[in-house]
Amino acid sequence: MKILIANPGSTSYKCKLYDSADMKVLFKATVERIGDSEGIYTYSFDNEKSIQVNQKITDYFEAVNLTITSIKEKFNINEIDAVGFKTVHAKGVTGCVRLDNKVLKAMEDYRSLAPVHTDVYITAISTFQKLLSDMPLVGLFETHFHQNIPSEAYLYGIPYELYEKHGIRKYGFHGASHRYIGKRALELYNANKVISCHLGGSSSVCAIKDGWSIDTSMGMSPQSGLLNAKRVGDLDPFGLLYLMEKENLSIDETRDLLMSKSGIYGISGKSGDFRDIEEGMNKGDERDTKAFKTFAYYVKRYIGEYLAILNGADCIVFTAGAGENSPALRKEIAGKLNYLNIILDEKKNLQNPKEGLISSENSKIKIAVIPTNEEYIVAKEVEKFLQKD
Ligand code: ADP
Repeated sequence: MKILIANPGSTSYKCKLYDSADMKVLFKATVERIGDSEGIYTYSFDNEKSIQVNQKITDYFEAVNLTITSIKEKFNINEIDAVGFKTVHAKGVTGCVRLDNKVLKAMEDYRSLAPVHTDVYITAISTFQKLLSDMPLVGLFETHFHQNIPSEAYLYGIPYELYEKHGIRKYGFHGASHRYIGKRALELYNANKVISCHLGGSSSVCAIKDGWSIDTSMGMSPQSGLLNAKRVGDLDPFGLLYLMEKENLSIDETRDLLMSKSGIYGISGKSGDFRDIEEGMNKGDERDTKAFKTFAYYVKRYIGEYLAILNGADCIVFTAGAGENSPALRKEIAGKLNYLNIILDEKKNLQNPKEGLISSENSKIKIAVIPTNEEYIVAKEVEKFLQKD
């Protein structure tokens, strides 16, 4: 089957056309700086040399239309079986589903929990509905991988009736990424109990057993758990109420504070990007050092938690932008776990393997770097969905 995976961001749009039989990438494109005075459109077929065009790209419609026009240079659009999306959150919906108006309404219902993500997905999906009205649009919700976590892991200490009435519980996110890591760690290292650390602009840790999540750090929204680039992470609810009272904040103002002025950026005061934070720290900047250390501390705490939950682990995996590329961050997190027989090999860690082990030979629990591949999981699930449909 030919499946187009659409990956919308707040000012960018990326897509890849897969042949799902061998997962060959037939076409890929990136549209950046949508809405700016000059946008950048880059595309290539069959992993050949990419072509870049700089031009104004007014909106999402224009961005998606550009990529469809390029696809039509080599393929008949009817050859594409479906467009797949890594959708985030919808009330009462999870798994791999057709993105009809009912599901869009359910996404809208949970919009306030993940406004940034939900808005870009709704825009992208409606763009496809307009541009390719007969094309099946399928979403794999990020919560799907966590759907079997036990109630003791997902319940919060609020009146049970309110949990039942409003669905206030842990759902978990980054499902496609953690699922890929679980699958790959099993293939590479025969690891059944895996702690997956997805550390990027948005970050979470997941405890995986036999290929499925049994607990994860993000909760009802992707704003909880670890600090994210600009999103808050865990925060005492009473601290929040106090803050709202003292600063006289409305709900919208509070949401904005927790989503776009907090997390790593909030502590550093300058940036939410680990590259800037590390640079600042290396120059002795106190706030950047605090941001770096606090983030690493949170990750370490979750690793300890999940070692207990899993009753030991076979492999700890680092993935995503910072997990795959920052030896300093990995060392801060996993450098002093010797008492658990988790021994980082500092030389291997500094070599920064694209995919491979960074633990020493005598480490009881392996430590690995594995590049995530969310599109792989989405394409395979969409293929399965279409075969059943
Ligand atoms: P996202 O989580 O935003 O989808 P990524 O997983 O690609 O995206 O993560 C992007 C983040 O990874 C960047 O914002 C940056 O903080 C971090 N990152 C990327 N490269 C490096 C690097 N070489 N060293 C440290 N951090 C990096």
